[in-house]
Amino acid sequence: MLEEGSLIGNQHGGAWKIIKKIGSGRCCQVYEGLDVVSKSQVAIKVYNEGLKFNCAHQREFLLLKIVHEKCGEVTQLVRMLESCCYGNQQVLIDEYLQPSLSVIIYTAKQQSHPSLFIIHKIINDVARGLSALHLCGFVHADLKPDNIQWSPKSGTFKLIDFGLSFNILDKEIGLVQSSSYRAPEVVCPNQPGNVPNTAIDIWSLGVLALYLVSEHKLTDYRKIQGLCAACQGNENKCENTEVVEKLFQQTTWHDQNNLFKKLKEVVTQCLQCQISRRPTCTDVIQQINTLTSLNAGFLDLLILPTCILRLLNMLGDCEIKNETELSDIKDDIIEECKKYGPVKDCIIPTDGPGINKVYVYFTSHIDAASAFTKLNGRTFNGRTVITTYFLPADFYTKNFF
Ligand SMILES: [Zn+2]
Repeated sequence: MLEEGSLIGNQHGGAWKIIKKIGSGRCCQVYEGLDVVSKSQVAIKVYNEGLKFNCAHQREFLLLKIVHEKCGEVTQLVRMLESCCYGNQQVLIDEYLQPSLSVIIYTAKQQSHPSLFIIHKIINDVARGLSALHLCGFVHADLKPDNIQWSPKSGTFKLIDFGLSFNILDKEIGLVQSSSYRAPEVVCPNQPGNVPNTAIDIWSLGVLALYLVSEHKLTDYRKIQGLCAACQGNENKCENTEVVEKLFQQTTWHDQNNLFKKLKEVVTQCLQCQISRRPTCTDVIQQINTLTSLNAGFLDLLILPTCILRLLNMLGDCEIKNETELSDIKDDIIEECKKYGPVKDCIIPTDGPGINKVYVYFTSHIDAASAFTKLNGRTFNGRTVITTYFLPADFYTKNFF
C-alpha cells in the first residue's frame, strides 16, 4: 500500500517519493511526488493491479513515446519522465502540472468570466496538443476540463490522461468520452460515414469552447442521440448551428468583436453532426489565429501562474532615465527576489508599453508564487508594488506590456 513517504524506484537509480494523493481515475491513483535525485516535483500515476490496468498503462506509455518520437517535445502535451513498477503495479512518472482547467475556470468566474484572451489561449493550446496526437493517428477521446492542465513552467495548457485514447486503425471503440462531451458518432456508432475518428476530439473541443464562452453545454439544449433530424434528412443546416447562435447571442460580447465572431464560426463548425463538415485541428488553429494577437489582461495574469513575475508601480520616469541608478535598482531587485529562490533573468524595459515595469524570471514557479505573495503590497522607494505573473512566450519574444 502506498502512503506518504513511500519510495518508488527503477533499475537506473531513479527514485521518487510519494508526497500526497492528489486524485484518482478509472485506472490509477495519482500522487504528488518528489524526484529524490533532482528534488523536482513530479506526478506519480500508480495503475491498479490487473491485466486491464496494465494495458491502460501500456497504452498511455506507448502513445506518449510514439508522439514524442514523431513530433519531438510537444509543449501542449504532458511530459512523461519515466515508466516503472511498484510491486505488481505499473507506474508512470509525469511532469507535475497544476492547476487544472476546471480550477482556472472556477477562479476566473470568481472575478467575472473567463476573458476572450484565456478562451483563445485554451482553444489554441488544446488544438495544438490534439493536432500532434492526430498527426500520429491517435484520438484523445476524453477531452474535458479535468483533462487539461496548466503548466506554470511552459505557460501553456497541456492535455493529460490518455486512458481512453485509441488509434484510428483500432477496430473496436467502446463508449469513449464523458457524456456531455460525447460526439454523435460515439453515441450512435452505426451510421454510415460517421465512424468515430479524430473528429470526435473536434466535437469535444467545440463543446469546450461553447462552454467557455456561454457557460452552457450543447447537451443542456439537445439530447445527442446520433445525427439531428435535419442532418438525417440531409438538410444543409444542422440543428446545432441554431443552438450555438442563440447561446453566443446571450453573452456580453458582440459580433463586432472579431475574435468572438471567429470563435462562433469555429464552434459552429466543430459541432456539426456530420464528421465531414467539421474542421481539422490545423483549420481551427489557422482560423483563430488570423487576427492580431491579444495580450493577456491584468486579471488573466493573476489567474495563470508562471515562473515570471511582473512588478508594477516600482519605478518612476526619473529612475528609468538614469542609467546608473537603474542598474543599482536592478541589482537591489534581484537581491531581494533571490530571497525567494534562484533568479534566471530580470528585465527592466526602458521604452515601449513595458516601461516602468520589472520582469523577474525565477527558476522555479514555486519560488515565483512565494515572491508573488510576499512582494505584493510591499513598499519600494515609497511606492506600493503590485505583482502579477507574466507569460513565458511574451518574455521570450520581448513583448513586454
Ligand atoms: Zn445536425
